[in-house]
Amino acid sequence: MPIFITIKFIDQLMVNTGEVMSQKETMQFQTEVNQLLKLMIHSLYSNHEIFLRELISNASDALDKRRFEGLTDAKLIENQGNPEIFITMDAEQKTLTIRDNGIGMNRDEVIENIGTIAKSGTKAFLEKLEANEKDVSNLIGQFGVGFYSAFIVADKVTLTTRKAGEPEDSAVIWESAGEGEFSLENTSKAVAGTEIVLHMRDEHINLLNEWSIRSIITKYSDHIAYPVMMEIERTKTVPAEQEGEEPTTVSEVEIEQINSATSIWQRDKKDVTDEDYQEFYKHISHDHANPLLWSHNKVEGKVNYTSLLFVPEHAQQNMWEQNQDYGLQLFVRRVFIMNATDKLIPRYLRFVKGVVDTADLPLNVSREILQSSSTLDSIKQGVTRRVLTMLNNLATGDEKEKYATFYKEFGRVIKEGIGEDASNKENIAKLLRFASTENDAEEVSFTDYIGRMKEGQENIYFITTDNLNTAKNSPHLEIYRSKGYEVILMTDVIDDWMMGFLSEFEGKKFVNIAKGDVNLDDKAEDEKKEEPELSNEDKAIIDKITNVLGE
Ligand code: ADP
Repeated sequence: MPIFITIKFIDQLMVNTGEVMSQKETMQFQTEVNQLLKLMIHSLYSNHEIFLRELISNASDALDKRRFEGLTDAKLIENQGNPEIFITMDAEQKTLTIRDNGIGMNRDEVIENIGTIAKSGTKAFLEKLEANEKDVSNLIGQFGVGFYSAFIVADKVTLTTRKAGEPEDSAVIWESAGEGEFSLENTSKAVAGTEIVLHMRDEHINLLNEWSIRSIITKYSDHIAYPVMMEIERTKTVPAEQEGEEPTTVSEVEIEQINSATSIWQRDKKDVTDEDYQEFYKHISHDHANPLLWSHNKVEGKVNYTSLLFVPEHAQQNMWEQNQDYGLQLFVRRVFIMNATDKLIPRYLRFVKGVVDTADLPLNVSREILQSSSTLDSIKQGVTRRVLTMLNNLATGDEKEKYATFYKEFGRVIKEGIGEDASNKENIAKLLRFASTENDAEEVSFTDYIGRMKEGQENIYFITTDNLNTAKNSPHLEIYRSKGYEVILMTDVIDDWMMGFLSEFEGKKFVNIAKGDVNLDDKAEDEKKEEPELSNEDKAIIDKITNVLGE
């Protein structure tokens, strides 16, 4: 059932344009979509510049896609020319145009991709808003509404697009004022790719000058790996040819590349600023918040690769969905190959974003090759270790609060690793935090616990329940409390499962105090002592009772 958009044909005019029969139809955005659009425009108004970052980012993704699909279907890159993003402005017409020669879209894809907002994310978005989530702008990025940010600065958007590999007359024009409806019309377009014309709102026409656009691009989109070209009109004064005549002014159009267009991960670390990393993270993750931490490394050895890995500050909405697309972007010699899901990073680190670029795979690498590539296996091991080290450094460093933020968002996910990744079990275990009988907050590590163990204590004692209160009031704890042993209180549903895979840590055995064979050294002694304390009188009574009642 199409819940997010109801298509209503308002007019259906058949215009005969000679060659192409142009069928124009108008469709309604769904009510919720309109509300969302208004909300977004309103809430992002103060940060209106980001519209350009979003559109350039989409153009860059479209160029990636065309390059990748062109590896296996050369038709798609025929006549493409240099992959690039082109910006022009027209102060008189009050328009700003962003053009790319990327993959483009056909009619169905236009309806699918920008005819609805955020597709299935819309419902979740509204639910979160209803749950009184304040930071709308932060939410927006998580729901894929990037394209619509165009309406922050434009009161009409005209998008013309043609899918690479499809005929010239299969192009389509999408147009909307962002209020209630959009129209679709067939057209003809000489080159494949997408052109977006923004008809600027009056209050934003001051952006239509070289310096404003240039500064937005260098601020937000410098890292984009394709050239962002801008057409710049310059007026020049030409001296008079003959004496006595006035000099003339002529205007010339120059085309200039605005961004540096080098892949950020290929640059020397010392040449990359924190802001560069943060903007790049936002580009690949579609997150509006800055990342919590990142790590940029060039690895040389048996396998050579560069990795740039980010840990977000917040978990994404779909983190607990079964088949969500996760993982790092795989590049081969700077050419985007694919989102490599579990080939580059294990599932329990699915929150990590970033890129891996290697020269040790062929450019025309297929999915089949990736399925069983020892190169990828080594990279995956390296990347996994790198992430665990980065997290461990955070956990043991000075920024304890930052680690607490991380743990609150992702602690449960990394626990899956105890069961999934036997080779890194110990390193993952180091990252875990729990409450204990010594500390109510979730901040006790196994290392802390061992540091506080009583002399001669051999085991790490723990109990699993479904909440902290039950854990603290468990009758099993009494004897440990009285003997001064600390017990770790595990209250997460996954903990019981996880402890099935964890039998020891740094040589100390884990013992679940609620399960059977607990061998608390002096508890055993206590029990032994109890028997001789029975007086002769007691014994006589017990014997009598036994006689009467039998066994
Ligand atoms: P997101 O980029 O997060 O998916 P957007 O609203 O920005 O969300 O874009 C929706 C979709 O529209 C994109 O996923 C892509 O499929 C398509 N799209 C947007 N811009 C372009 C473009 N310049 N070329 C081709 N497809 C595009």
